This record gives sequence, C-alpha cells and structure tokens, in this order.
Amino acid sequence: MTEICKNLQKIKAEIPKNVTLVAVSKTKPKEAILEAYQCHHRDFGENKVQELVQKHEILPKDIQWHMIGHLQRNKVKYIAPFVYLIHGVDNIKLLKEINKQAAKNNRKINILLQIKIAREETKFGMDEASLEEIINAYLSGNFPYLQIIGLMGMATNTTDTEQIAKEFVHLHGLYQSYQIKVPEFRYLSMGMSGDYKIAIANGSNLIRVGSAIFGARNYPV
Ligand SMILES: *Cc1c(COP(=O)(O)O)cnc(C)c1O
Repeated sequence: MTEICKNLQKIKAEIPKNVTLVAVSKTKPKEAILEAYQCHHRDFGENKVQELVQKHEILPKDIQWHMIGHLQRNKVKYIAPFVYLIHGVDNIKLLKEINKQAAKNNRKINILLQIKIAREETKFGMDEASLEEIINAYLSGNFPYLQIIGLMGMATNTTDTEQIAKEFVHLHGLYQSYQIKVPEFRYLSMGMSGDYKIAIANGSNLIRVGSAIFGARNYPV
C-alpha cells in the first residue's frame, strides 16, 4: 500500500462516518492524485483555477472536484462546466457570476459561503451582515442556478488551540441558525491538516486536508 493510501485510511478510520474528507491536492502531480484515487478516494480540492482545469482534463471523470481557494469572477467560466462544490464564495458579485455561468451550462452549482472567523486581516470571507443579505436574496429566488449548501471558514493560523476552537464554535453556531432557514444546508467546511480534529469536535462535517495526506508542499500557496 502506498504512503498516500495509508495516510488516507488512517484519517478515514479516525473521523466519524458523517464527515466528508476532501483531499487537497494543490501543487501535487497527477500521480499522487491517482494513488489516492486507486485507494478509492473521489473528493479532491484545488485552490487555483488553471491547475484545477488541467487536472480535471487528464484525470478520471468520476472525481468530484472542490474549488477551495479564492475564486476570481473572470475565471468562474472555466470551472462552471464540471466543478462539484465551490467552497470560498464570499461576495455577491461572485455569486451572480457563478449563477450566470451555471445557467449557461444548464446545471446547478453547489457553493459554500465563506465566513471570516480568523483574527488575521488577510483571510478572505464575509461578515455576518453580508451573510444575512445573501441568504435573504437566495431565499427570495435570486440565484436559481445556485445551491447554497453550507458554510466554510478558516481559523486563525496559531498554536493557540483554544482560540481555534472558539472560532469553530462560533461558525458552527451560525451554521446551525441558518440551517433552520435554508433547507439545502448540509455542509460545514472547516478544518485542515493541523486543526481538523478540533474542527470535527466543534461541528465540522467536511474537512479539507492536504499535507497530512500528500506530505508537505514544496512551496507555500
Ligand atoms: C491548502 C488548503 C487546505 C489544506 O491545507 P493543509 O494544511 O495542507 O491540510 C485547506 N483549505 C484551504 C482553503 C487551503 O488553501
């Protein structure tokens, strides 16, 4: 069994059955993804449109591709035909563009709204007022080609696990309150290699794990 397969199986054995594992394959070659695929894994995450499109073209078509990075509006058209779930949607202009491209492709596109929970200034994500505005527009039927199926967030990059837990608890609370209003809500995407255990303990049911599966990346992205 390959190292990648061992890592995948170890993580799957320790997380609850209801938690979806997205293997974050950014910067990794197709051979690494195929190792995970042969280990029966089907959900992969990328954070760059060009890389996502290239990998989709050359890899098996039953892979479910997750766009987990910051998405620019002018690039939505390249992933709209095939993307399974877009995690980081954090503004209304981007929602409008995804809705438009989904319509062109005659399909509904699943998205998660990214909420800013970290202390850092650099992280993407919307505040709660924008969340409310967007959900209201969605519930009024403004985005017929979108399915808003949950929320996504990234905790502060810190060793302070209490701080991380606090941020996840906060996002879980928001998720639960909107789950009552939005029947499609079913995913709370939070947790990466360094903090997925804290995330799951605090309500995550979708984790995005890269280096713990594929090993450290050669360059930061
Ligand atoms: C790279 C990335 C991950 C995975 O990070 P690891 O620490 O390698 O598990 C998760 N989420 C997002 C948004 C990322 O960009």
